[in-house]
Amino acid sequence: MIQKKQYIKRSALLLAFFIVTAMAAAQAFTKDQLLGKITPAKDTNFILISAKYTDKKNIYLNKEAYQAFEKMAAAAAKEGIQIKIISATRTFDAQKTIWEKKWVRADYVKFPEEQRVKEIMKYSSMPGTSRHHWGTDIDINSLENSYFDKAEGKKLYDWMVKNAAQFGFYQTYTSKKDGRTGYEEEKWHWSYMPIAGPMLTEYQKMITYSDISGFSGSQFAAFNKVIEEYVLGILK
Ligand SMILES: [Zn+2]
Repeated sequence: MIQKKQYIKRSALLLAFFIVTAMAAAQAFTKDQLLGKITPAKDTNFILISAKYTDKKNIYLNKEAYQAFEKMAAAAAKEGIQIKIISATRTFDAQKTIWEKKWVRADYVKFPEEQRVKEIMKYSSMPGTSRHHWGTDIDINSLENSYFDKAEGKKLYDWMVKNAAQFGFYQTYTSKKDGRTGYEEEKWHWSYMPIAGPMLTEYQKMITYSDISGFSGSQFAAFNKVIEEYVLGILK
């Protein structure tokens, strides 16, 4: 009798294990989600960011990332630190608008096209390769590293370095001194890793250079190793 009970218990545990594994597999992402070919306003995975946290109109985050952000912002506020979101989800089309503007700007036009890609990518992503497509990443308070070196900015940055990980947020574009490739350091860019981590894993499996197209200079993505050095060039 006891043996039978144990058998049932073991079977139930095994079944629970399979259900959890199957749920994890079902959480897989689509190519469109990974490439930012999404409409956050009509997508139930996303939520509009409250005016409490941003001056921007109609900007969205992944729901789970947003809940974590709210907890983090509340914890920071208790210590007199205000975290303001200045950019969050950006679609493929929004990134394309940013990219195409830079592509024809005088300070970039002077470079031959294959090199122009690299110049723009010091700070901006190619459409289809931005973590901002995923709804998991935020830019906070200022787009200048120098802001985070003194006064309010330093207080905020030091707080983030110490506490953000407790809420799932990490600075992905850290100093390049340790050999990290890709974008320059961005003290303002923080990523919600519990979702962004699995998305990056799926990106590696599902996205190839043939998926990165439809904008000026896209033919130079492979030449510049955009996936290997930029998409994968995050904190180690
Ligand atoms: Zn960013």
